Amino acid sequence: MRSVVVVGAGIWGSSLALRLAETGWRVTLVEQYTPGHVRQSSAGETRLLRCGHGSDDWYAGMAWRAREGWRRLEERTGEELFCESGLMWFAHREDGPERRSARVLDALGVPHALLDPDEAARRFPGLGTDDLAFALWEPHAGVLRARRATQVTARLALDAGVRLVRARALPYGGGTGVVADGEVLTADRVVWACGAWLPEVFGAEFGVEVEVTRQDTFHFGVPSAWATPPVPAFCDYEMAAYGHGDLDGTGMKVTDDAEGEPYDPESGDRRVTEGAERAARAHLARRFPSLVGAPVVFSQVCQYTLTRDSEWIVAEVADGVWLLGGDSGHGFKHAPALADYVAGILDGRWAPEARFGLHERRPAHGLRTSGRSAAF
Ligand SMILES: Cc1cc2nc3c(=O)[nH]c(=O)nc-3n(C[C@H](O)[C@H](O)[C@H](O)COP(=O)(O)OP(=O)(O)OC[C@H]3O[C@@H](n4cnc5c(N)ncnc54)[C@H](O)[C@@H]3O)c2cc1C
Repeated sequence: MRSVVVVGAGIWGSSLALRLAETGWRVTLVEQYTPGHVRQSSAGETRLLRCGHGSDDWYAGMAWRAREGWRRLEERTGEELFCESGLMWFAHREDGPERRSARVLDALGVPHALLDPDEAARRFPGLGTDDLAFALWEPHAGVLRARRATQVTARLALDAGVRLVRARALPYGGGTGVVADGEVLTADRVVWACGAWLPEVFGAEFGVEVEVTRQDTFHFGVPSAWATPPVPAFCDYEMAAYGHGDLDGTGMKVTDDAEGEPYDPESGDRRVTEGAERAARAHLARRFPSLVGAPVVFSQVCQYTLTRDSEWIVAEVADGVWLLGGDSGHGFKHAPALADYVAGILDGRWAPEARFGLHERRPAHGLRTSGRSAAF
């Protein structure tokens, strides 16, 4: 029986552990805290699922396949993890990233529509559309209950026979083995899916170039007319803002997506700042003016782990030793399909795309929801 140690029980590590255990691998999953702990990037209350990625079709296609993966997970568990509210992209110009996304969605056969500003306002009551050229509508996009989905995925992995070791893992023998709580774990493959901790574990050794930034998110208390569904999720690429209506009573999420200050996921303070709240309120004022005075009812501080070009890292750094990281703030939605992709690599069925290697990355605009994305 082939064996693997996966370090990190965020959504990437947990999804991979589950996928491998169900296809005949003996899997050990090492996590320093518990799956869904609040320092994880995967422990955000919600994460958006959308297929539009500008002119890129690889991530778009994977997001579309991942949607099916989330649906299968829901069928197995009986839990609603994905709220298919639809998602609206607010396009500020005719020829921007939304237009490029629409062309890719066309080519992939992913349902979508282009709406003029009046039609957008009819579907999204209270929306300020003065500065919009059009809106791109993805009817099958929506909102994932992220923290819950991470816990559920990890539980399914354990049910499938994965051994969970609760310890901080250290590389052993150049990463081919893992020391966890004094125990040396060895396996045919080791996958380090450490999220924002990857540079601490491996940065200097393999030249992992990522920047970890602090991101404050805000949910505002709103009247019931702003519930999701029917209020859709939204992305405003040019303004670097995204969110959704009130889901599960946690308030309407309206958050700035520009990269924050450098951040330590372990010791960083997780109280939101006044400056970040001001930025979120500026989006409210522009896009949802009737909500400008709404109170903050829920907030979180989380971290992005950014590569220069916002492409992920899937790289073999020694025989059988893989780094899986650099999610660049847009990897939650893809997790079930990414697990299939990485499992295929570990099975030897295909090689990773060259774009995921540890080569020097050229600065590029983000693949997430922020057109302000600046290379560090
Ligand atoms: C504010 C914010 C908004 C986002 N919005 C979206 C969105 O709308 N849509 C989307 O698709 N994505 C979004 N993302 C990105 C998404 O959350 C991440 O891509 C995803 O959660 C990454 O998961 P991960 O498993 O790689 O990392 P993590 O969830 O951080 O998990 C890594 C795990 O590894 C463990 N670990 C690290 N080192 C060790 C060690 N040495 N030993 C043992 N355990 C270790 C950590 O404890 C942690 O549990 C957002 C991220 C943020 C911060």
